[in-house]
Amino acid sequence: MGKALIIGCGGVANVAIHKCCQNSEVFTEIMIASRTKSKCDAVKEKLEKTTATKIHTAKVDADHVDELIALINKFKPDVVLNLALPYQDLTIMDACLATKTNYVDTANYEPIDTAKFEYSWQWAYREKFKEAGITALLGSGFDPGVTGVFSAYALKHEFDEINYIDILDCNAGDHGYPFATNFNPEINIREVSANGSYWEDGHFVETKPMEIKRVYNFPEIGEKDMYLLHHEELESLALNMPGIKRIRFFMTFGQSYLTHLKCLENVGMTSIEPIEYEGKQIVPLQFLKAVLPDPASLGPRTVGKTNIGCIFKGKKDGKEKTYYLYNVCDHQECYKEVESQAISYTTGVPAMIGAMMLMTKTWDKKGVFNIEEFDPDPFMDALNKWGLPWKESFTPEMVD
Ligand code: NDP
Repeated sequence: MGKALIIGCGGVANVAIHKCCQNSEVFTEIMIASRTKSKCDAVKEKLEKTTATKIHTAKVDADHVDELIALINKFKPDVVLNLALPYQDLTIMDACLATKTNYVDTANYEPIDTAKFEYSWQWAYREKFKEAGITALLGSGFDPGVTGVFSAYALKHEFDEINYIDILDCNAGDHGYPFATNFNPEINIREVSANGSYWEDGHFVETKPMEIKRVYNFPEIGEKDMYLLHHEELESLALNMPGIKRIRFFMTFGQSYLTHLKCLENVGMTSIEPIEYEGKQIVPLQFLKAVLPDPASLGPRTVGKTNIGCIFKGKKDGKEKTYYLYNVCDHQECYKEVESQAISYTTGVPAMIGAMMLMTKTWDKKGVFNIEEFDPDPFMDALNKWGLPWKESFTPEMVD
């Protein structure tokens, strides 16, 4: 069917590449391009004997638009799947615009020197993408990603109006380290050490980091502490879900993680302000990333499950209704299949599916869109087929 250029070769990309190779009818050729080409070559060597997908590799620094344009012009992909870091979103979108190529990512743009993420920078490309006749699909991971698809599905099939959404992200996996992050430590720590916020009655209400705590009894997992965080899909769902009154996002954290994080914060290790060290400028958080375990190395040692989903409350036929859509994923099952833990798996699978939606023209609107702006049904079917089956409950425990 077509060609995809995958940028980045970390934890999430590794899963997406496995999934593209399992889906070689759609992904006939892929190119894996990243800063460190040897990582791309290693993945190619591991997978090429197992798949009909033809795999190419290249070195690219995605901070440079001209390098990206040259690579896209050479390979001529139908879609560019950005699985590098949020810092590269705009340069990759610029290159897609210049070459009229479709774009998919899993995280919204964040400037490297400010711990702030929001969609405004990428939404500013709407007219340009529309005029160029190409599509940008923003946020095709799990959260954001599947959470937006779940919301669109709930609205389409179960409600006339959704008033409340609680997104619950539970990772009950245990990797045996006192402290490690399940995806890129720099991005993860920037996210959890920032102020929290939720959307209510037309505006964001800000909270202190980890200020709001709840305990929730997760299906197939049990009781866990969870904390309210700001999260990027709150911004787009607030716009795209008519009748919405409140959206909150909660993530579970264990006590050991929180105690270590507080200590690292207190000693200044999570700062993104450069400091002078032995005549060199270093960023403490980037140094911390270098000493922490590589998330990709957690796969073999992580046991337990994740449960990520959305609880909806709204109205159907004039009556109040609640509905819970979620996926449960087992870390060791993921490792057996693609040699990755469930956090990378739950992001890499939807990334492949998002690229597939554009390659097959199942989703074919021109411009820049968040995932909940498309028909959720084919994506929901694909989740069941490609390893993230979803479950539903009509009598969920609610979060107060
Ligand atoms: P990793 O750090 O494991 O991988 C990032 C990859 O990007 C590395 O291969 C790195 O290359 C490459 N890269 C970084 N900078 C550049 C550059 N300038 N040019 C080319 N390649 C570059 O991260 P993850 O795989 O954990 O995360 C990938 C993305 O997924 C992130 O944006 C993250 O925010 C997002 N994510 C989204 C989730 C969701 O549910 N929506 C959940 C989890 C993650 P090198 O190895 O050479 O450094």
